[in-house]
Amino acid sequence: MQHNLVLYNTLTRKKEKFEPIHPNMVGMYVCGPTVYSDVHLGNCRTFVSFDLIFRYLLHLGYKVRYVRNITDAGHLEGDNDEGDDKFAKKAKLEQLEPMEIVQKYTIGFHDVLRLFNTIPPSIEPTATGHISEQIEMIKQIMANGYAYEVNGTVYFDVQKYIEQYNYTILTNRNLEDLLNNTRELGGQDEKKGRLDFALWIKAKPEHIMRWPSPWSVGFPGWHIECSAMSRKYLGDQFDIHGGGMDLAATHHTNEIAQSQACNHADPAKYWMHTNMLTVNGARMSKSAGNGFLPHELFTGKHALLQRGYSPMAVRFFMLQAHYRSTLDFSNEALDAADKGYKRLMAAISLLDKINPTAVSSIQHDIAGIKANCYAAMDDDFNSPILIAELFEMVRVINSVYDGKQTIDETTLADIKELMQHFVCDIMGLQDDHVGGDGDSVDNLMNVIIKLRNESKKNKDFTTSDRIREELTAIGIQLKDSKEGTLWNKI
Ligand code: AMP
Ligand code: ZN
Repeated sequence: MQHNLVLYNTLTRKKEKFEPIHPNMVGMYVCGPTVYSDVHLGNCRTFVSFDLIFRYLLHLGYKVRYVRNITDAGHLEGDNDEGDDKFAKKAKLEQLEPMEIVQKYTIGFHDVLRLFNTIPPSIEPTATGHISEQIEMIKQIMANGYAYEVNGTVYFDVQKYIEQYNYTILTNRNLEDLLNNTRELGGQDEKKGRLDFALWIKAKPEHIMRWPSPWSVGFPGWHIECSAMSRKYLGDQFDIHGGGMDLAATHHTNEIAQSQACNHADPAKYWMHTNMLTVNGARMSKSAGNGFLPHELFTGKHALLQRGYSPMAVRFFMLQAHYRSTLDFSNEALDAADKGYKRLMAAISLLDKINPTAVSSIQHDIAGIKANCYAAMDDDFNSPILIAELFEMVRVINSVYDGKQTIDETTLADIKELMQHFVCDIMGLQDDHVGGDGDSVDNLMNVIIKLRNESKKNKDFTTSDRIREELTAIGIQLKDSKEGTLWNKI
C-alpha cells in the first residue's frame, strides 16, 4: 500500500512515518468513557478526533481493528487509589444499581456518538466483562516481581520498575520532580513507594461492585483494565494507543509500566493524544462542572448559549481545529462553524444541478486540490488545512453553478468523488437538513417564522404556540433572540 501518512507520536515527541506492525492492518486502542454520568462535549471531541483518524485509516485501505473500552468499574474519584467509587456513589445518589447507572450512561454515550455520526468501534469491551483477564495480568506482573500485596490489595512497585525501565518515558518528566510533587506516604499508607498504584483493591464492606480474586474480594484498579483488554484483543504489541492528553501523565504512563512488567514489551508503537476542549481557557470536565452536555448544545438550552447548533455543525466546529490544538468553546466560533458547514453542504448539493458541457473552462487544477487534501490528512490528520482546501473546491463549484465557468463530465465526476471522499467518508459530515436541499428548507423556515411572528404581533398566541409546538414535535426548535427568531434541528 502506497501512502505517506505521518503522525505525531507522543512517545518519541516527533512526527513519524506510519508503518503498522503487520502490513495493511492496524490495531488501535482508545480509552473510552467512564460511564457514571452523561458524556460532555469535551469527551465527544476526543471520540470525534479518533473517529476522523479511524475513518482516514479505513479510507487508505487498512483493515482496522478499533477497540474502545467502556470503564464501568474500578474508577475512583480523584483518579487515584483513594476516594469513593464513581459508580457506587452515583448509584446511591440516583437510587439505582451500579449496573443500571452503567447501562443508562452507556446508552446515552452511544446515542450522542451516533448523532455525531461516528463509526462504532470494532470491539467495545467493558472492564467488568474482563475481570479474569485483569487478574491474570496482575498475577503475571507479581510473578515477574513488579507488584506486591498488602492486606488483600495489590500495588505496582514503581521503585522496582525504574531499576529496569524508564517510568516517565511517555511524558519525559523528571522523576525527581514527579516524586517531589507526589504526596508523602503517611503511617496509614500500605504502599511502599509514593508512586506505587493499585492493581487490585480489597473492597470495603460497603463497596457493592466486588469480585473474588487470589488476594481478596475486591475490584481492579483503573489502569489495569486497559492493559488487559488491549492485550486480549490487539496482542502484546499493537499500532496505535490513543486518548485525551489528560490521560498521558498517569493512566497511560501506568499502562505502559503494567504491560512492560507483564510482557517485557512496549504495548503501542504510536501513542496519540488529543487536546482538550476548553471553556474560557479552562478544561471542560465532569468534575469541574463546566461541561456542556451535547443535548444542551443541540437545543441551545444553556445559560452560555445564544442558540442551538446541529450535531453536524458541532462536528464541523471540532474538525476546524487540529486534534493536538486546544479548542475553545464560544458562540462566535460555533456560529462561524455553522456557516462554514452549511456552505460546504450547499456546494455539494449544487453538484447535482450542474450540467456538464463538452469542454471545461475551469483553470483550477482539481488533481492539485485533491493532492493537497491527501497531503493535509497525511500530515498528522490536519483537518483545518483539509477544510481550507475544500473551500477552494467550493469556490470552483459556485463559479461553475453561477455560469462563470464551464465543466466537462469527467471533471464534474472527479469533484463529486473528491467531496464524497473527504467531506462524507473522512470528515464524517452528512446533510442534517430535514429533507430537500439546504436553501429551500431555509426559505420554508423563514416563511413559517414570519407567520408565527405575525400571529404573535396580532396577539394570536394560540397559533404562535401551536406553530412552535408542532415544529418541536418534528424535531425543529425555534429560539427568539435579539437578531430575530433562529431555528435548528434538535
Ligand atoms: P472520562 O470519561 O473522564 O474517562 O474521559 C473519556 C475521554 O474523554 C478520555 O480520553 C479523556 O481524555 C477525554 N476528555 C475528557 N475531558 C476532555 C476535554 N475537555 N476535551 C477533550 N477530551 C476530554
Ligand atoms: Zn485507558
